[in-house]
Amino acid sequence: MNIHEYQAKALLRQYGAPVSDGRVVMKADEAKAAAGELDGPLWVVKAQIHAGGRGKGHFKEKEAGEKGGVRLAKSVEEAEELTRQMLGRTLVTHQTGEAGKQVNRIYIEDGSDIERELYLALLVDRGSSRISFVASTEGGMDIEEVAASTPEKIVSFSVDPATGLSDFHGRRVAFALGLKGAQVKQCVQLVKNLYRLFLEKDMEMLEINPLIVMKDGNLKCLDAKMGFDNNALYRQPDVLALRDETEEDPKELAASKFDLNYIALDGEIGCMVNGAGLAMATMDIIKLFGAEPANFLDVGGGATKEKVTEAFKIITSDPNVKGILVNIFGGIMRCDIIAEGIIAAVKEVGLQVPLVVRLEGTNVELGKQIIRDSGLNVIPADDLSDAAQKIVKAVKG
Ligand code: GDP
Ligand code: MG
Repeated sequence: MNIHEYQAKALLRQYGAPVSDGRVVMKADEAKAAAGELDGPLWVVKAQIHAGGRGKGHFKEKEAGEKGGVRLAKSVEEAEELTRQMLGRTLVTHQTGEAGKQVNRIYIEDGSDIERELYLALLVDRGSSRISFVASTEGGMDIEEVAASTPEKIVSFSVDPATGLSDFHGRRVAFALGLKGAQVKQCVQLVKNLYRLFLEKDMEMLEINPLIVMKDGNLKCLDAKMGFDNNALYRQPDVLALRDETEEDPKELAASKFDLNYIALDGEIGCMVNGAGLAMATMDIIKLFGAEPANFLDVGGGATKEKVTEAFKIITSDPNVKGILVNIFGGIMRCDIIAEGIIAAVKEVGLQVPLVVRLEGTNVELGKQIIRDSGLNVIPADDLSDAAQKIVKAVKG
């Protein structure tokens, strides 16, 4: 789960990390008063969406002006004007894709005088199974770009959980960022605070880009992005309260409500499978036969008819889906439950695309019988490769 920049900054503030004072607004009429509570003489008006690259992004509507989603204002009136331009408009960045994201919240911040822009992030490194720091002098830019063109400018190391964090780690970051004098001490403290925040809130990712050295020599977190481990949200009610469902893929959101393991992808073949391993194999074999999966979906072992119905509805709600492949190996899951779920869903939402069903295992004959009796236009398949070939053929001809 991700949160907005202004929410991330509230957490940073709570943990003693330096951030600017700011106010979030949902209506343009609130902007002037909100900006008036900040010192000035410079204000930053920032579109809040769950995507990076806002500064370099552009709006779809011409009323929003030419510039990106992070703009500087010299007066509270200008801050209000910029808020009015951006609210409700669609911001497109390299992370949102063509469709862009609607801006429903604006964060107005006290502007900072920037001397240098740096990069600092913490993440769970799957390779070492540890929390890693990533630091670079090339802040304010796309870090993937830096990694590709000047990888020597990125310093990364992990923290041994047995010994934990020490001042040494903070000094290592400070050195990598070229910090001097009092900044080193500030950096050591910042690294400590960020590490504690990361651990206590069960984060997956914490990115400060840019971390700045201000004209007065002090450090400040100018942008913040945070991602949390969904599997730990049950013990993070404060974090869960920050969830903004309008930022999430509606299909993934519906899936999470029904406890389905669903991930939306770009392809044309919708997949309903039980078991994560079989779901992965199904995606692979679709690709092998020349098509692309539209999703990963594991309905799980103990799925009910209602859950299967919901899963089928989520798949068919994706306009990119040109065909559906149901691949079930009934172990704990019973094939008749799957068959009933499919029929219930089709009754509710109809079936506009070809459907291939491969059933095997517990109650397979009953499952096949239910589908036959329903009169549904289903293409039956015998095994995984037969099924994949049939659905690819049905979609691609
Ligand atoms: P992003 O584009 O989504 O990563 O948004 P950021 O919050 O990182 O802002 C983009 C850029 O706007 C930063 O890299 C800075 O160059 C600039 N910016 C943001 N806040 C300030 C500020 O307080 N003062 C000044 N002068 N520039 C800022
Ligand atoms: Mg940024």
